Amino acid sequence: MKVIAKTGNDELATVYVAQSDNGKLLEFVESLPPPFTINEKWVLIISTLYGCPIKCRFCDAGSYYNGKPTKDELLFQIDYLIKNRFGGETVPSKKFKIQFSRMGEPTLNPAVLDVLKEIPNRYNAPGFYPSLSTIAPNGTDEFFEELLLIKNKYYKNKFQFQFSIHSTDLNQRDWLIPVKKWSFEKMAKFGEKFHQGDRQKITLNFALSSDSIVESNVLLQYFNPDDFLIKITPVNPTYKALQNKLDSFIYKPSKQYQIIDNLRSTGYEVIVSIGDLTENEIGSNCGQHVMNFLKNNVAIQESYTFSLQQFLD
Ligand code: SF4
Repeated sequence: MKVIAKTGNDELATVYVAQSDNGKLLEFVESLPPPFTINEKWVLIISTLYGCPIKCRFCDAGSYYNGKPTKDELLFQIDYLIKNRFGGETVPSKKFKIQFSRMGEPTLNPAVLDVLKEIPNRYNAPGFYPSLSTIAPNGTDEFFEELLLIKNKYYKNKFQFQFSIHSTDLNQRDWLIPVKKWSFEKMAKFGEKFHQGDRQKITLNFALSSDSIVESNVLLQYFNPDDFLIKITPVNPTYKALQNKLDSFIYKPSKQYQIIDNLRSTGYEVIVSIGDLTENEIGSNCGQHVMNFLKNNVAIQESYTFSLQQFLD
């Protein structure tokens, strides 16, 4: 495995494209979320599949699918970034997060579980905590059961677990995430189990477009606010989002949103996570760079497909 392209900004986010020995591509990201210094917080976002077979309507990673990276290919992404920054296996950052959420639905690759088991022995990183985001595809029950065991053994009170739901309307959810997946009831049951005896609540993520349906009474039927919190994120300006005419409903941290007020008034803790808009400029959105590389077979120049200005007024 080797890194073949890099873009970004050492102060905020850098995207790397790597090629496996048999020519498959994936990308991974190093991010320094403001206002923290690297000693305070360091975030890596790694790919768990070569592309993704789920094909969510807003995500460029779903434009192709080329199989599962091995455990070593997953670890390569982490090793590379740690060595690059710190020269060895020690990460001094007070908070050191690895998100298994760049390209690929992580529950489709059992090697992710092997990596989670390996990390505590492989690195000297006392601030480490993992973050895994899933759409909960059907047929992945075994992965989830083992994940729960691993969390309880290695990562109690520090595992960020997220279900990406995106809509409370079943037809809209099926359109946005066009595969068979767990029902809300099944997600709720597993989430409660995962949260049991743990401080970290389970996150329900909604990447909101203007047409998104989010009804708090539907959520309340299944997801207890004592176990679940809500995270609202923008729809990133990907090729796919543009093709499918999905604009972002959320784009300004200071703006008041009725939908968020409604969720809060029903008892949910709601996090609005917009990130830094410069990240769109750098192109640290899901799948963009590999797709660009595949299309053009040239070094990466432009990453986003429409003007950032649209998000700033
Ligand atoms: S959002 Fe996640 S599950 Fe959906 S296509 Fe992208 S990588 Fe796959």
